[in-house]
Amino acid sequence: REKELEKYKDMKLERKDGRRVYVNANIGGTVDLGPMLARGADGIGLFRTEFLFLDRDDLPGEEEQFQIYKEVVEKVGDRPVVIRTVDIGSDKKPEYLEFPEEINPAMGYRGIRISLNNKDFFKTQLRAILRASKFGNVKIMYPMISAIEEVRNANSVLRQSRLELLEEDVEIGDPEIGIMIEVPSAVAMVRELAEEVDFLSIGTNDLVQYTLAVDRTNEKIKDQFTPYHPAILRMITRVAAAGREFDIPVAMCGEAAGDKLLIPFWLGIGIDQLSMSPVSILPAKETINKWLNRDKTELIQKVLQMPTVAEIQYYLSRRE
Ligand code: PEP
Ligand code: MG
Repeated sequence: REKELEKYKDMKLERKDGRRVYVNANIGGTVDLGPMLARGADGIGLFRTEFLFLDRDDLPGEEEQFQIYKEVVEKVGDRPVVIRTVDIGSDKKPEYLEFPEEINPAMGYRGIRISLNNKDFFKTQLRAILRASKFGNVKIMYPMISAIEEVRNANSVLRQSRLELLEEDVEIGDPEIGIMIEVPSAVAMVRELAEEVDFLSIGTNDLVQYTLAVDRTNEKIKDQFTPYHPAILRMITRVAAAGREFDIPVAMCGEAAGDKLLIPFWLGIGIDQLSMSPVSILPAKETINKWLNRDKTELIQKVLQMPTVAEIQYYLSRRE
């Protein structure tokens, strides 16, 4: 089976009209570079930088972060690298930062909220990313965006960081800016958000958690944690449509991006960048290759009319 999948490793996936479909990797650090390169990832769709901040006694400084980002960027050559600013908080709390006692940490002090509340900390990371962006195709992504103001405030800190670096005569690149769409309010505001950024990336893990009010870590309700829920598929369809309307790419980087049964649906609504754990890349490429140039109009129409998880799952499992 492994051997059979090998042939997809260097395959470039393209639609009939020449538009490319990217199968990217989600990584947590330099240790994941080997596995993603071995499977022929087209780029890094999500670098979860919070892992650099965990399991240590102090904050990583600008130089230390810069060296790591630079190493990642250089190892993947000219392939795109989406570096997500820290999404700590919730279940990932470093000991050297002060956190409030929280009854609902997933809905608490986390992600972009922490970055915007600690501008120096945020600037340190943005400066390191801006410097690394000189060495390749880097994009910056903000997590947990729930309102337009957060994007504007984050971009304003980014602008300040850029100006400071230019004043210090430090060389920097010009990375594109994107946001995660993983909170339901961001879906409701997606058209306005699309006007503020260069790309969107759907985080299905948190989008499912927050939309369905199903804790992604709660075993007791794990059957209810599903991207097959019609509410999720309809919301994602709306995000894809906003991307087309405002002519910006819509990517996906939650676990559902590598789901074999859902891939035809993602391709059908026009999502052209799927990012996943390295182990999912080759099986996903096989499925994409099979579906890429088939007509998916009927599949999309049918699924979008179905009112239950069971019907959607059954219907998708019967497509060959
Ligand atoms: C997501 O929420 O889908 C996502 C990709 O981010 P994380 O899993 O790191 O929260
Ligand atoms: Mg998330």
